[in-house]
Amino acid sequence: MFFTFSCSHEHQKAPKQEKYHKKERKTEIIVDCNYTFEEATTGSKAPDSVLAELKLINVLYYSTDGKMHSGQVLTNRRIANIIQKMFEIMLLEKFPVAHAIPIVKYHWNDNLSMSDNNTYSFCYRNISYSKHACGLAVDINPYFNPVIWKKGYEYRLNKPIGAHYDPAIPGTFSLSNPVVIKFEELGMRWGHNFTRNYDNHHFEK
Ligand SMILES: [Zn+2]
Repeated sequence: MFFTFSCSHEHQKAPKQEKYHKKERKTEIIVDCNYTFEEATTGSKAPDSVLAELKLINVLYYSTDGKMHSGQVLTNRRIANIIQKMFEIMLLEKFPVAHAIPIVKYHWNDNLSMSDNNTYSFCYRNISYSKHACGLAVDINPYFNPVIWKKGYEYRLNKPIGAHYDPAIPGTFSLSNPVVIKFEELGMRWGHNFTRNYDNHHFEK
């Protein structure tokens, strides 16, 4: 998809006009998904009361290919504005997001989504401790930012399996990364600070 930023649609051959067209900038935006709300919630086992809390938002980001992409996040209405701001921050800081696609694409399978380095918020689970169950958390670039279990919990699997945490890789969070600092200023708690594990891809309200 091409978006052309131009103030004129006239086709004059005046020198000034030609000069203007040379400066015209084309920005290519790759569309990663374009679901309706109904499509993005199809197959979810969540009760209607939970689905009523959700909102589907459109987001822009630089992906790992260096190009601008558009994706979507299905999230809780209460943090939709914050999620939008988080993406604006990542765009300004040129912090890449691999892609942001509602988890319906992965048949509501969190492991498939994580292995694909996908960013998402809502995934209903019939458990109370996960804030993803009501869309009050977001996982960003999970393959670059795996969950790492702390001492005493090593028997649990780090996820996604095979992922390697290296803060030097663009799209990876660290304590000194300006993106993390700005997210925390928005009131989002980083999973890196959890007691039992470093949930490096996870931010929640
Ligand atoms: Zn999470």
